[in-house]
Amino acid sequence: MTSPVETSSNTGLRKQAEDILQGKAAQFSGQLKGLSEEAMEELLHELHVHQIELELQNEELRQTQLELDIAKTHFFELYDLAPAAYLTMTQQGLIQQTNLAAATLLGLSRRNLMNKKFSNFIFEADLAVYYSFFKQLVESREQQVLELRMHKNDGMQFWVHMEAKAAQSEEDVPTLRVVLTDISERIQTEIALRENIVHIQSLVDSARETENALRIAATVFESLEGIFITDANRAILRTNQAVFNITGYCEKELIGQNPNIFSSGCQDACFYKAMWKMINETGIWDGEVWNRRKNGDIYPQHLTVSSVKDTAGKVTNYVATLTDISQSQLAADKIKFLAFYDPLTKLPNRILLRERLTLALISSQRNKHNSALLFIDLDNFKNLNDTLGHDMGDLLLQQVSERLVHSVREGDTVARLGGDEFVVMLEDLSASINEAVIQVEAVGHKILESINKSYQLTTYFYNCTSSIGITLFTGQQQTGDEILKQADIAMYQAKAAGRNALRFFDQQMQDTITNRVSLERDLENALAENQIMLYYQPQLQSGNQIIGAEALIRWHHPERGFVPPSDFIPLAEENKLILAIGQWVLETACAQIKKWESCEQTKNLTIAVNVSARQFHQIDFVENVRQVLKDIAINPNKLKLELTETVVLDDIEGTINKMNALHELGVSFSMDDFGTGYSSLSYLSRLPMDQLKIDQSFVLNININITDAVIVQTIIGMAKNLYMEVIAEGVETEQQRQFLELNGCSQYQGYLFSKPVPIAEFEKFFGL
Ligand code: C2E
Ligand code: MG
Ligand code: MG
Repeated sequence: MTSPVETSSNTGLRKQAEDILQGKAAQFSGQLKGLSEEAMEELLHELHVHQIELELQNEELRQTQLELDIAKTHFFELYDLAPAAYLTMTQQGLIQQTNLAAATLLGLSRRNLMNKKFSNFIFEADLAVYYSFFKQLVESREQQVLELRMHKNDGMQFWVHMEAKAAQSEEDVPTLRVVLTDISERIQTEIALRENIVHIQSLVDSARETENALRIAATVFESLEGIFITDANRAILRTNQAVFNITGYCEKELIGQNPNIFSSGCQDACFYKAMWKMINETGIWDGEVWNRRKNGDIYPQHLTVSSVKDTAGKVTNYVATLTDISQSQLAADKIKFLAFYDPLTKLPNRILLRERLTLALISSQRNKHNSALLFIDLDNFKNLNDTLGHDMGDLLLQQVSERLVHSVREGDTVARLGGDEFVVMLEDLSASINEAVIQVEAVGHKILESINKSYQLTTYFYNCTSSIGITLFTGQQQTGDEILKQADIAMYQAKAAGRNALRFFDQQMQDTITNRVSLERDLENALAENQIMLYYQPQLQSGNQIIGAEALIRWHHPERGFVPPSDFIPLAEENKLILAIGQWVLETACAQIKKWESCEQTKNLTIAVNVSARQFHQIDFVENVRQVLKDIAINPNKLKLELTETVVLDDIEGTINKMNALHELGVSFSMDDFGTGYSSLSYLSRLPMDQLKIDQSFVLNININITDAVIVQTIIGMAKNLYMEVIAEGVETEQQRQFLELNGCSQYQGYLFSKPVPIAEFEKFFGL
């Protein structure tokens, strides 16, 4: 290798000396030719001096060379033996020169390192970092520093600190100079340090966790649940505040005591024996016990006892947690009561009845005994509520329930469904149906009688009857709801039979109901499917002159044929269908009047339209009629509305207002079926009624029953006194007509002249 201290200075000196000698020689050779001895001598002296100077210079040169050589050796020693590893490499990353330390570090001789790729010694995972470092190095020409992992030729890994810089070599080729310092030891220390820090951190964390856990444990210990810990001999060691709150004892009184200090005596020795057996076998016992507080109160508590064992499996302690459940038990009982019992009478409610009914069905199927359900409804209960108020009503219901409970055996169920509806369920009646009927009938009568007895409601004495529907059942052929429904139907039969009665459910009754349901369903489509039509029955006056007609509805059912209005009008009344039907009747009748108005023979005819209670009491009834009259544009005098007494009696004031409003329009009114209701002169005189229509039941008996004849005469008289017209319906015979005429009723309607007929037939009376 070439020393960085160049030999050029050495060469320069030598050249200088040679130049001097050459100059002097030339000088001498020119001078020698014509020189004297003296001059010669001087010349020689000069030469001598020069020679000496040269020698001196030569010596100086040698000295310098020597120093240089020493410096060079020194340098090489320094370079080679330096503790840091030095190397140079080409811009392609090939190693050119290395010092000994570098060779040692890389684990190869310097010769073998020559032209090796430096990257061969870089740890694979760090190669990417190294390449970017190398790129930076070549491009920036500034010193770069990097710490990375390398490995020796034999694969041993080490960490290095690498400092490098690009430089120009003597040959003017760019070279990369690299200094490597093995920092493995430092990194190891750092890693160890870092690990230590992590370890310490985790210790700190776990200490913190332990502290938290302790804090949680302490909080838990002071929770609302009572907790006490005993030793293995069951002597109390520690308790929390909740134990004092629940038991009423203080710490001093409990420490060292056996927990049997709490016992109430409600559980016997066997109970505790079983409890400790369980704790010893399974480690835990959980359940409810009744304990005694210090003040003597006995209360229910939820108790958990668990054993704590040491590593050898020996019990060291017992931990008990206890919760006072007296409040929650009360609440639960209350909720249960509200859910299954009627708060007013304390009797089971509908839900509990259903449950018991289901059980009764199961048990009756098993033991083949009959059971019975009695549906009891108080008669006219609404009147009591309306007249004496709900408080009295409540009192009556309470007394009735007591009487019901006393009328049956202890195991029987008495329930209140709501309002004035009660149900009694009798189980375990005879297996023979006949005997069971007799048994139930006896109970039924007992109930009727007991309810019939007078009640004292504060200062009032009150009498009340009931209607009872009974159904018998065995097994599970029917559902509870079906059975309830049957008893309900039978109860309605009892009501219909005049109240204060009992009725048994029978299949015929059921069929009627089923039929009714299907009829109701069909009726919903009847209007839309044009099955409904109007028949007209002539109304006449003396001399058989037709003055008008009553419009009577007919339903032509596709399968049943003609269904009489008495079968479907009450149904329609119940489910609002009557409103649509009534509207249709009104419009159809008015359209008929309109047609008749344009015909000479019929232009004076009136039509009487039956109006049902529900229809009449619609808030917009008057407006409806007004609208129909306006739309069809008829003379309102031709329209007569037939109301029954029940319609009127429902709300007399409202009825009067409506009638007046319609009167003003020109519409007239007839009181249908007069005499069958609670007619009284006082209300009749207040109604703006135009006509009374004597009910056909009186007409039928005019010539048979003297009472009916008198009634008819009275009605005619009343009508006269009140300045009303009078008409008789259901006139079938000439005698009837004559009796009526004789007594002042000249208008009539009935089979005598014609049955209700379709419009085409009706018009035939006029030759149309
Ligand atoms: P109502 O208004 O009292 O009608 C008179 C009933 O007596 C009619 O029965 C009629 O056919 C019948 N009748 C007439 N003359 C005689 C007779 O000489 N002998 C006998 N035995 N009966 C006679 P219908 O048509 O079966 O109507 C029954 C009831 O249905 C009506 O009694 C009425 O209350 C109601 N009704 C009929 N059509 C309608 C209607 O369009 N709307 C409303 N709401 N009810 C109607
Ligand atoms: Mg009528
Ligand atoms: Mg009538």
